[in-house]
Amino acid sequence: MKIAIAKLEEGEHRYQFHFRREDVGLSADYGYNYGIDLDVSLTKMGDEFLVRGRISTQADLVCDRCAEPYVADIQDEMMVLYTLSSKLIPEDEDKQYDEVHRIDPGLMEIDLSEDIRQTLIVALPLKRLCSPDCKGLCPRCGANLNFEKCTCEVETIDPRWEALKKLLK
Ligand SMILES: [Zn+2]
Ligand SMILES: [Zn+2]
Repeated sequence: MKIAIAKLEEGEHRYQFHFRREDVGLSADYGYNYGIDLDVSLTKMGDEFLVRGRISTQADLVCDRCAEPYVADIQDEMMVLYTLSSKLIPEDEDKQYDEVHRIDPGLMEIDLSEDIRQTLIVALPLKRLCSPDCKGLCPRCGANLNFEKCTCEVETIDPRWEALKKLLK
């Protein structure tokens, strides 16, 4: 995912990329098995380049509650600054970027692959649910309660009773 910057004019430039995870060196472990769309706005300000990207794709994930595979929509944004090695950036400005890359004057092209890879990894949800109201598995028989009703007695556990039970043991 490279952008030639040697002959760019000052100001904003827009790019669209369509690629697959292999193109940015991402392994199959993350579930990104679908086409990945990336809209990039690159702003040239002298020897500095501000890259803002919006990534949109899908991933094969496994539900935390019912353990069934599902396809999740994944969207995320990245903001990366390419600036000269000599330039000082105040800390509060630095914080607004996902990444700041130091470059030498006369750099011919920017390679976004590493930043795209990092953005895709971070974009995966921590809590994975096939649907917000997934009913999960029966803790007794393991039936997937989204698809079937099992005959297990549903025990409502009062935390106070639980504490008492432990004391009695
Ligand atoms: Zn589920
Ligand atoms: Zn059950």
